[in-house]
Amino acid sequence: MTDIMIGLEIHCQLTSLKSKLFCGCRGNYRSSKPNSNICPVCCGFPGTLPLMNKKAIEQSAMISYSLECKIPDKLMFYRKNYFYPDLPKNFQITQYNVYGLTSIGSHGRIKLNDSKVIKIRRVQLEEDPGRILYAPGIAHNANYALIDYNRAGVSLVEIVTEPDFSSPKEVRFFLNKFSSILEHIGICDTALEGAVRCDVNVSLKGGSRVEIKNVNSFKEVEKALTFEISRQTSLLARNIKIKSETRHWDEQRKITKVARTKEEEQDYRYFPEPDIPLVHLGNEFSSHIGKLIPELPDQRRSRFTESYSLSDQVSNILINSKKLADFFESCVKIYASPVEIANWIVNDLLGLIGSEEPTLLNHIKIKPSHLAELARLVDEGKINRSTGKQILTKMVETGQTPSQLLSKSESSRIIDENLISEVVEQVFKTEGSAVNDALLNSNAINFLVGKVMQVTKGRADPKIVTQLINLKLTQSRG
Ligand code: ZN
Ligand code: MN
Repeated sequence: MTDIMIGLEIHCQLTSLKSKLFCGCRGNYRSSKPNSNICPVCCGFPGTLPLMNKKAIEQSAMISYSLECKIPDKLMFYRKNYFYPDLPKNFQITQYNVYGLTSIGSHGRIKLNDSKVIKIRRVQLEEDPGRILYAPGIAHNANYALIDYNRAGVSLVEIVTEPDFSSPKEVRFFLNKFSSILEHIGICDTALEGAVRCDVNVSLKGGSRVEIKNVNSFKEVEKALTFEISRQTSLLARNIKIKSETRHWDEQRKITKVARTKEEEQDYRYFPEPDIPLVHLGNEFSSHIGKLIPELPDQRRSRFTESYSLSDQVSNILINSKKLADFFESCVKIYASPVEIANWIVNDLLGLIGSEEPTLLNHIKIKPSHLAELARLVDEGKINRSTGKQILTKMVETGQTPSQLLSKSESSRIIDENLISEVVEQVFKTEGSAVNDALLNSNAINFLVGKVMQVTKGRADPKIVTQLINLKLTQSRG
């Protein structure tokens, strides 16, 4: 369907910063006692003044730069007023392009592929609100809620896209790429709970715009959208009008449900923040930021296809996760067989650890030197690929090196030529047509080798097997 319009509003925390955006409280609020990481500034006590975190400007500009945004020469901050318990000051200091382009970024883009570009409307730097904790299990029916202000004032970057997406799949591609950009610039640990959050708006042709708030992980976004699109499609099919409303994603039940009516934009009464003067960034700022930006996923992908001769598809999978791409390059440094190593990672390792979760690389015990060793053993013909796969499974489970695992199974390895040639005889009898193929085409021998390995449950020495089969074929020809 092309009549779907989806836009995103993403919030990501600058998780590597030591302090909050406007005060000296710790940026890492996680695992502290509730309301222990607070001070008069982030609680908005009268008479306090915000003090700008310079690093937060730099890092939000890095996001902006990486999304090909325009970075302004002056920054302006605004007050966004609303009354809600998670905001201790009753306003949020944020940015808004009221008087010209004064937010940290605007007019950017992310290229999904050669034919699809998602435009970035704006990037802004703002403070995170506190956290409201409802009594467990009873959510919105609870007659009380707990508030933790440890998060209030943490540096947050808001990224708003144009409604350029036409399917949930495109949204997933975009979020994968965006996460990878964040990982590469190293300023947001997307694996931390609540570090990235996403609001989604979606409308179908002939319907109104519906917003889904607070989808708390990128993984859930595609599910929420798929549900919402089928909900709206079925309403339209029955000629029921789609209301413009805000809905919540219920992660347990996997449905969206209607939320409290939301304030309209003008209700926020944006006005310039009187306690923060214009921030002059200067002419050199953008080029200074450019120098801080490391190699980004797009450049890295081109390098992977060019210098390692990897296919676009394989490079894309590796690049989607910085950890995975780093792992690959560490292996290649140890043993320079990039195509083989990439195949082991993409076709085998990801299958074993679950390709959806490259973060699992953190938890598995396998080291780059182990995978490099495995690739080398197979390349040198010391073991065949199917043995290699079995070993890889054990490597993931145990963290042992291939040679450790091989020496264990060595005792059960069949190197006795008489034993193996018995099996070869047997296979030649049962696989007559494969033998004929092999007589005509030497490539067809692999099938026979595979059969012998199968009968011996992978224990026969593949080198001896190949030798004996070749011998037998020569005898048959002669
Ligand atoms: Zn504080
Ligand atoms: Mn925001």
